[in-house]
Amino acid sequence: MKAIIIGAGMGGMSAAIALRRAGVETTVYEAVKEMKPVGAAISIWPNGVKCLNALGLKAPLRALGGDMAWVAYRDAFSGSTLTRFSLAPLVQQVGERPCPVARADLQALLIDHYGRDAIQFGHRVAGVEQHAHGVTAWFENGTHVSADFLVAADGTHSVIREAVLGERVTRRYAGYVNWNGLVTLDARIAPADQWTTFVGEGKRVSLMPVGGNRFYFFFDVPLPPGLNQDRSTIKSDLSRYFSGWAPEVQRLIAALDIQTTNRVEIHDIEPFSRFVNGRIALLGDAAHSTTPDIGQGGCAAMEDAIVLAQMLSTHSLGIEDALRRYESRRVARTRDLVLKARKRCDVTHGKDAAVTAAWYAELKQETGERVLAGLCETIEGGPLG
Ligand code: FAD
Repeated sequence: MKAIIIGAGMGGMSAAIALRRAGVETTVYEAVKEMKPVGAAISIWPNGVKCLNALGLKAPLRALGGDMAWVAYRDAFSGSTLTRFSLAPLVQQVGERPCPVARADLQALLIDHYGRDAIQFGHRVAGVEQHAHGVTAWFENGTHVSADFLVAADGTHSVIREAVLGERVTRRYAGYVNWNGLVTLDARIAPADQWTTFVGEGKRVSLMPVGGNRFYFFFDVPLPPGLNQDRSTIKSDLSRYFSGWAPEVQRLIAALDIQTTNRVEIHDIEPFSRFVNGRIALLGDAAHSTTPDIGQGGCAAMEDAIVLAQMLSTHSLGIEDALRRYESRRVARTRDLVLKARKRCDVTHGKDAAVTAAWYAELKQETGERVLAGLCETIEGGPLG
């Protein structure tokens, strides 16, 4: 059985590894000539970690991850701790640790594990066509390739999505801009073993430890879309948006490197119920695009990969049947993740000021129990429990 995989992001590469382990002959086609991950880092929650463990990446992934043992929320201005609790009960309940990693490290791990030479870089798919026993993908460079089925892991701007849905969908602006990057660990900014988040005014500043003695940081600010993006003004923009915030936040702004800081307008896509058309299956952000507010977009792509390979290796009624089973197992799960993230996004970013103020007040009473229960429910809803 042969599969074409479009896209060498974390979804496409997880699918390529999972399908190959299931005995499928795979080739990955990637638009760009050289991978440059968009975004600095990603928190892989235990549901995602379990998927990567199942792909044989347990030890190397752990070596890249940060040691995130604690969670703390702090007041924007005074810097006082609103709540602080251990992640140990979560690890105990779900049986795995979260693993925040630099994106470049994760991407290199997946690509090297699969084999860089087995990826056809510089192949941007322009169109796909199904026939009785297979699928053909056409590339902008004039070449084409055929196989038994095709996995479209071409991201949130997927060009293949329309061939599956029969219509074009538009992304929805979530109402805020995110700046993210990496800085060297610094105890004067936040503890090295803690996920620290400063909250106030519907904005947030967050720091997570990743491997290589670095923090993954991000700043969120509710703003209209389409504002001017100028790298040279990142520090002055952030200083203005976070004027009066705690000294740790000012230190972070001073420490960040504007050349490697990313600015992203955050979007999602209204969940849809069709991931498969015949022998073409959408996977990852092509199938479900979420805001990053519960850190589950990439984890969901990894889950997709595991379920897709499982359906193909454990059922024998043909490819189209297995792909339909993949779809039926993934639609509700990913809809739930997208909508949960959207809800969290609105509370965090002050869509209704009263609701956000109530959340800040709740944080002062939080023992960790409620936050951890929510995280465990999300994690345990994944295909590997
Ligand atoms: P992508 O990573 O977008 O990869 C798609 C690939 O397809 C790219 O390499 C692209 O070049 C290629 N491609 C595109 N078009 C074509 C074409 N026509 N032909 C061939 N190739 C093509 N998720 C988490 O789990 N945890 C987090 O903490 C987290 N934080 C996030 C923070 C931010 C600010 C953002 C924006 C997202 C975050 N996410 C997080 C979500 C996560 O980044 C995505 O869900 C994940 O990258 C999706 O992987 P993918 O492989 O489906 O798509």
